[in-house]
Amino acid sequence: MARTDFGSLPRQNPCAQCGEPIGVPEWIENEASRTRYLWHCLVCDYRFEAVAIFEDADPDALAA
Ligand SMILES: [Zn+2]
Repeated sequence: MARTDFGSLPRQNPCAQCGEPIGVPEWIENEASRTRYLWHCLVCDYRFEAVAIFEDADPDALAA
């Protein structure tokens, strides 16, 4: 089960297609050194993904 932290969510991300702000991501997937956000625009029904990379990740994890 994905751990979610709504206190640090990106908000009001503009739609990649029509530019309308989207309140919160539809889906969040936490990985070892990054978090993937799936955004779903309710205006034009466009879905796109954004990835946040954590710079302080363990470098050994990147070598795998
Ligand atoms: Zn849109």
